Amino acid sequence: MGKLTNNMWRLLGAQSSRNQSKSLTLLKKAASFDDWAKELEDKEFAAAAEKLDITDPEGDDRARFLALAREAGDRTLDMRPFDVQLQGALRLLEGDIIEMATGEGKTLAGAIAAIGFVLQGHRVHVISVNDYLATRDAEWMKPLFDQFGIVSAAVSENSTRAERKTAYDADITYGSVNEIGFDVLRDQLVTRAGDLVSPKPDVAIIDEADSVLVDEALVPLILAGATIGEVPDKPIHDAVARLKKTHYEIDAEGRNVYLTDEGAAYIEAELGGINLYDEEHVGTTLVHVNVAMHAHILVERDVHYIVRDGGVHLINASRGRVAQLQRWPDGLQAAVELKEGLAQTDSGEVIDTITVQALIGRYPKVCGMTGTALAAGEQLRQFYQLAVSQIPPNTKNVRIDEVDRVFDNKSNKADAVVEFVKEVHESGQPILIGTHDVAESEELAHLLGRAGVTSVVLNAKNDAEEAKIIAEAGAKNAVTVSTQMAGRGTDIKLGGSKGQKDGESTSERDEVVELGGLCVVGTGRHDTERLDNQLRGRAGRQGDPGRSVFFSSAEDPVVTRNLTLKRDPVSSSEDGSLGSKGVDLIEQAQRVAEGVMLELHANTWRYNQLVNQQREIVVRRRTELLTTDAALTELKESENKRYLELIGDAPAEAEHKADETEASEDADQAGESVVTEKAEPVPVEVLEQAAREIMLFHLDRAWADHLAFVSDVRASIHLRSLGRESPLDEFHKLILEEFGKLPGDAVENARKTFREAVITVDGVDLEQADLRRSTTTWTYMVHDSPFSSGGAKALQGIIGIFR
Ligand code: ADP
Ligand code: MG
Repeated sequence: MGKLTNNMWRLLGAQSSRNQSKSLTLLKKAASFDDWAKELEDKEFAAAAEKLDITDPEGDDRARFLALAREAGDRTLDMRPFDVQLQGALRLLEGDIIEMATGEGKTLAGAIAAIGFVLQGHRVHVISVNDYLATRDAEWMKPLFDQFGIVSAAVSENSTRAERKTAYDADITYGSVNEIGFDVLRDQLVTRAGDLVSPKPDVAIIDEADSVLVDEALVPLILAGATIGEVPDKPIHDAVARLKKTHYEIDAEGRNVYLTDEGAAYIEAELGGINLYDEEHVGTTLVHVNVAMHAHILVERDVHYIVRDGGVHLINASRGRVAQLQRWPDGLQAAVELKEGLAQTDSGEVIDTITVQALIGRYPKVCGMTGTALAAGEQLRQFYQLAVSQIPPNTKNVRIDEVDRVFDNKSNKADAVVEFVKEVHESGQPILIGTHDVAESEELAHLLGRAGVTSVVLNAKNDAEEAKIIAEAGAKNAVTVSTQMAGRGTDIKLGGSKGQKDGESTSERDEVVELGGLCVVGTGRHDTERLDNQLRGRAGRQGDPGRSVFFSSAEDPVVTRNLTLKRDPVSSSEDGSLGSKGVDLIEQAQRVAEGVMLELHANTWRYNQLVNQQREIVVRRRTELLTTDAALTELKESENKRYLELIGDAPAEAEHKADETEASEDADQAGESVVTEKAEPVPVEVLEQAAREIMLFHLDRAWADHLAFVSDVRASIHLRSLGRESPLDEFHKLILEEFGKLPGDAVENARKTFREAVITVDGVDLEQADLRRSTTTWTYMVHDSPFSSGGAKALQGIIGIFR
């Protein structure tokens, strides 16, 4: 660590200890109000809280607020908040990301902060990583909010539009990042202000903040609509399917595949002697070749996707389970379907998209909590200007984190893991094994089974089921194999769910404590130590005993992707272990990986930034059209004649003209338009709405077209910009140029429709004018996807990123 970094850490430390001592003083003060709070009747809490002015972070009223929260938690939830939880809540109120270990009670700390924000007049969204946690926490904390007369609710995948609207009207709304994001996107389909669902963003309290703000930040949430299916180019696909090993190269990270000269020549010949790199083919054929190579060479069945019920289902790599409603961008989805000989699913058009990062960026105030915040400090500061506060544990952590066991190759590692698990399992100590993907977890479960150890594998299930299973991971004799995100947020109690306070089951807990608590085994380091620590944190909650150990090998992806070794490390022992030199190797590889991820994130961020800003501009215009009479006002001005006709105020000359038309030869064909002109005058309110729908239609159309353009540019920019400007500059130039035309085009098209469409007392018939909105829409997230998170990767020639 450089000197500068050292100083920075010291400064950070100083800041955080200053904050700490401030909150300790306030906590002391709060204790002096305990009796006051105790004497209040339940129904007096709301009024007592309302009287407080808690804006001063060191004021008496804030201390009273803490006393109220403590008393209310005790009465309504049977949880008297620990000092550290109140401390956490205070830092949240100051807008920090707090680090509190797993099992320390972040749910309650977040809820108390939410109350604090509401008392200051804010509206709060508590954002979780999935629906299951959002619903669970909303239900769990509700009695506490009720005590303060605060309205709380949750949105989940199954909520109707009406339910969502009600939920967002509450003071505190719990929701998963997807659902909240999808609601923001779906609002882009609305043509009446009254149908809007998402409220104006105010305060976001983000649970598992590192996962949302760092790991998933670049994941785009997508709203797509069905269009006429686009069939991928079969000849290209077939040519690629015939490629031989010498025709392409895969980079060390397994993220890119390139044609060699020989390969390019082969494809060019197969496609009838074209030149892949000339202007005509660079943005089209070459992109398709890349997509097909991606599908054939980089994307592996059972690692990246599974085939089930005749369809391709993506496996979410970071969560290790089948991702519902998730698809790759169309080209790749279709290419993989072709590869598997499956029917082509409906292809869609992206109507709107927003990254998690941009979604969170809408909130003026953001704070959050996680077990691993410090390690994400750099990203949180750089991308969100958020500070981190470390909250000490309520009870000292006594978990033993053992030194890594590193082996020369994968197979020796696997042997060692099985051996270790078998041995620990014999004592009855519960074991939780963290693997990296579904394939690995199944393989391991198989190996364990062969060694006589029965295990439960957590994957491809829904979050609620996973939660139930993982809650039992602390039971005696349990062996649970999970992937990284599986069951995050679920409490693992020693002795299992029965190992709670009461009666007989207490002995179950005691027995497991006696055995040393939960033993966590990692089957390989992640690309960042932060995720390793998330896994370790599953053991040793609230002062429980526990143990964690990682097994690694010189063949692990974190090594092969990040280090180029001159020589393969050689083991001097029979089992293949590398000892401390192995540990050094792994740590070095992980440091490189962390650097790469940070750079990748920063780069993708640069690419997303401009499109995010453009989206903001479109949304602002959309809101104006939706909530004011701007549409008609503008059209009235430029198309005054038509306007007057419609409201039945046409000058005599126009009527005369209409008569003429009637008398003319093609009167019959023109019949309809004549009828319109003679029709009842259109009331102004109807006309306002018609104008609004017309303007919105063309604005939305233009934005969808723009997004398609952006995605094309992204897919080909690294090819286009060869030897010219930097890809980023070139990207910006093209995107800006294109966007510059959007407002004018949208208005021009709207004028034309206003002139030509049938507009009656019933409003405008856009369908009839062949201006259809997508009839079916769907939403999805693109995880670990090739094009999605960015241009950045496409630009570097990295077409895919698989963590
Ligand atoms: P985290 O999100 O920090 O991992 P949770 O909010 O899920 O932790 O809480 C973990 C467990 O701790 C829960 O079972 C909860 O009931 C318990 N808990 C939290 N706060 C308290 C408290 N003040 N008193 C007693 N139990 C608590
Ligand atoms: Mg939690």
